[in-house]
Amino acid sequence: MDLFEPDGPPSWVQVAVERGLSLDADVLTYAVPNELHPIALGSRVRVPLGRGATPTAGWVVAPGTTPNLAPERIKRVIDVDDRVSPLPESLIDVSRWVSDYYQCPMGMTLASVVPAAVKRGTGRTLNRHWSRSSIPQPDRLPPAQRRILEVLNKHSGSAPLLESVLLEASGVKTRGPLQALERAGLLEVTLVEAIRGTDIPGGLDPRRPDCLTDEQQRAIQSIGEAIPRGASVHVLHGVTGSGKTEVYLQLIEQVLAAGKTALMLVPEIALTPQTGARLSGRFPDHRVAILHSGLHASQRHAEWQAVRSGEARVILGARSAVFAPVCERELGLVVVDEEHESSYKQEQAPRYHGRDLAILRAHRAECPIILGSATPSMETWSKAVSGRWHLHRMRSRPPGMALPRVEVVDLAQEQKSSHDRSLGQTLMQGLHEVTQSGDQAIVLLNRRGWASWIGCSSQMCGYTLRCEACEASMVMHRDNRLPQGGHVKCHHCLRSNRLPSICPDCGKGLIKLGLGTQRLEEVLREELPHLEAHQIVRVDSDQISGLQDLHEILGAFGRREIRVLLGTQMIAKGLDFPGVRLVGVVSADTALQLPDFRASERTFQLVSQVAGRAGRSADGPQARVIVQSMHPDNPAVLHAAAHEWDRFAEHELTMRARAGLPPAKRMARIVFRNRDLDAAMAMANAAAQALTNTKEEIELLGPAPCPMARIDDRHRIGLEVLGETPGTLGRALAKARAAGGLKPGEKVVIDVDPTTLL
Ligand code: ADP
Ligand code: ZN
Repeated sequence: MDLFEPDGPPSWVQVAVERGLSLDADVLTYAVPNELHPIALGSRVRVPLGRGATPTAGWVVAPGTTPNLAPERIKRVIDVDDRVSPLPESLIDVSRWVSDYYQCPMGMTLASVVPAAVKRGTGRTLNRHWSRSSIPQPDRLPPAQRRILEVLNKHSGSAPLLESVLLEASGVKTRGPLQALERAGLLEVTLVEAIRGTDIPGGLDPRRPDCLTDEQQRAIQSIGEAIPRGASVHVLHGVTGSGKTEVYLQLIEQVLAAGKTALMLVPEIALTPQTGARLSGRFPDHRVAILHSGLHASQRHAEWQAVRSGEARVILGARSAVFAPVCERELGLVVVDEEHESSYKQEQAPRYHGRDLAILRAHRAECPIILGSATPSMETWSKAVSGRWHLHRMRSRPPGMALPRVEVVDLAQEQKSSHDRSLGQTLMQGLHEVTQSGDQAIVLLNRRGWASWIGCSSQMCGYTLRCEACEASMVMHRDNRLPQGGHVKCHHCLRSNRLPSICPDCGKGLIKLGLGTQRLEEVLREELPHLEAHQIVRVDSDQISGLQDLHEILGAFGRREIRVLLGTQMIAKGLDFPGVRLVGVVSADTALQLPDFRASERTFQLVSQVAGRAGRSADGPQARVIVQSMHPDNPAVLHAAAHEWDRFAEHELTMRARAGLPPAKRMARIVFRNRDLDAAMAMANAAAQALTNTKEEIELLGPAPCPMARIDDRHRIGLEVLGETPGTLGRALAKARAAGGLKPGEKVVIDVDPTTLL
């Protein structure tokens, strides 16, 4: 047989094939034909799959052993894709962990670990490099050819020169003379592989502050001491504006000086291009790689390759950068900024949490990790206060930058005296004052569109406009080009419809309630007539089509050309603009009302984070934050307003422990989706039974309809599994799957450590 090396042992590989979620056993053994032997671990290959032997892409994840099959049934690897560098072993191990822990097949996990641009080899080019051959130069040559040879002769050493460099240096515009020289045997060409990446902006703000605060110094010192000592987890709890970034930067500097690599995760890199520019400005002698989905495909490939080759010494990226192909021996520090952000959780399979994987990677690399936040997640905080992780605190901002004064106003009270029902007079007056004195304001409202509720004006009728396919209200969006002045849209399935002019049930007029950002913009334009049109700008996903737009807007806000920035939580995060004297939260209740045990935590985070955008200038009067709420006595709102993190966290952890919810327990959530309600319920009941049969110490909540009981014509039944440890949960899920009672796929979604329960 030609399967094997003539005298060598038979060779087998285990390949994780890239197939859908439903394929449970997706790591299969294949034979390596002679001409491909040996295949490196981590290689991308094509293998025949299924009855039709369909060529399917996959990754070599382990050496194989002789399968227990008749020789004629053994399939062979078709080919190896040499456009893609093999994955480092560390990444295969991490993927295997993700696959087990998050209950997602290995092939599918790997598919999301490696960017598509890398798999397709996007932007990969072969560059021509030219050098002199040993044939002596003839006396007579056309001038262009002569100049080329002169440059090469002068070029010290015999190293080939890149074609573009050679042409430029010899003042030759076309490739003709090169080809003529090659035909004459005077030049030799070598092809060198490269990736055509376009430049990523860099080099901003290399300034370091003149002096560190005492708190910054202490944090840098104690984490710095841990750097050479192996794995450790550090929670950096610093109020907004306390200068956490400076702490990260100085620690990264230490890691670079020790010859190691640093990995830094941020929640929304695409929104904050400053971070990348800041890093490359601070470390001009090191290659900073930026990994995120907003890059062009070839850029993405080039950045990935720079990490893979070890060239990049600082790696910055959003969630998926936790899969940076960095060698674990090289890794000296991992930073997760704003560790509480829900965008670290991936909402598609594999439903991994970037922060938790970052901890895993740091642990495997035996290096410290810093989890930074002004409002840590309860998961992180509980480990910090119990002493399992190291806690470092920064309670104040650098001198002069006081925390803003936060006022909570009772919206119910204000509505009595205000002509508009959603913006109270306190906020309106505040906006007048700051804009008239030339300062800037940010107004946050976490609801898009013009009105989020449309219903009949007659109380007898009770009609409300709902999505036909979802258990949700349609949201009105204004559009003056349409005859009715707008349309209605479902924010869950994205169906959109005409806006009815009268109630379809009784013919009476319709009323529109629930202020959205679009209407807020209209109200602000009316109420602040002294501002010019371009001085008020709305930022939400309806308005902003590309990152370019957003970067331009933030630039204009930074130059104070824009006075009032209003929008959804897109503007609540991370922005650092010294001219902001007022932040308004139109409704602190949007998150509070959600039927989710994290509602209070989210509300506290939102209010503190958006408030943290104010007061970032060292001079002028104290900045103000006005928070409107229908529940002004709610502890989350009150504690956030008083900057009382500890009291809030203590209260919240007590409540969670009493209710037996995370972080006191671990949770997995299973959602059963089906067009047929009974079928969904039957699957959920069967799964609940299978889980109970595992005899693991778990507790089940449900099955019961999800708060969002139907989306896109599919009924949704939820089942929550709680256990003391991740091990218990993992075993219960694995046993239930093995027994056939739980089949993840299109209709059954398993979410381990869910961050939302809607
Ligand atoms: P955080 O991430 O903690 O919210 P930042 O890192 O964005 O805070 O820092 C807030 C602001 O304070 C930034 O403009 C930063 O340049 C500035 N800053 C940081 N450290 C100092 C310092 N020691 N002295 C003066 N300004 C500082
Ligand atoms: Zn819908």
